[in-house]
Amino acid sequence: MKINRAEFVKSSKEIKDLPPANKPEYAFIGRSNVGKSSLINMLTNRKNLAKTSSTPGKTQLINHFLINENWYLTDLPGYGYAKTSKSNRAEFRKMIRSYLKERPNLVNTFLLVDARHKPQKIDLEFMEWLGRNRIPFAIVFTKADKLSSNQLAKQIKAYQTEMLRQWASMPPYFVSSSVSGLGRKAILDYIEQLNTQLGQHFSGK
Ligand code: GDP
Repeated sequence: MKINRAEFVKSSKEIKDLPPANKPEYAFIGRSNVGKSSLINMLTNRKNLAKTSSTPGKTQLINHFLINENWYLTDLPGYGYAKTSKSNRAEFRKMIRSYLKERPNLVNTFLLVDARHKPQKIDLEFMEWLGRNRIPFAIVFTKADKLSSNQLAKQIKAYQTEMLRQWASMPPYFVSSSVSGLGRKAILDYIEQLNTQLGQHFSGK
């Protein structure tokens, strides 16, 4: 898929503030610092579309971007973020979970994990929750440039082993690097393929 346009739409603090659910939507989520903003900027070919962790005062909001005037990309607040209070965290967790469960136009969620780390409890639990709620998702192994291909294969295998304890199969997965652009084509093609499958569903007719 070629990205012709990528526009910021709005930041929403609450579900009721979200833009109308009239276009296919793809959400990106992961632990703070996993490389989510960098990935979104890499996918859309924009330097600063999503604000990176280093942006001062980055708040925990749901950010909507409109891509090619055709589909929404949503940047969800990173989880496992230590710099906010416990009650704040619980509130965001609730908000994100109701977004994921109730957003009617959400087609797929990309769950980002840092390719360098062993399967983390917080990520595995989140995947389990997604599965239990039948929310379609794919895994993106980020920062692949920091590993050799052998190390990378080992890390993916470790995830597979961990996931196959609970699941019949591994969800679709991608390997990405915001430095080299690895994964860009595969992820965008996947989105395009899902958009095509949806066909006229969102044409409003
Ligand atoms: P976020 O908190 O998930 O939005 O993460 P950021 O996109 O802000 O990235 C966190 C840190 O990881 C920053 O220092 C990035 O430069 C770095 N980073 C992100 N993606 C990559 C990647 O693909 N490769 C490498 N080497 N570093 C990355």
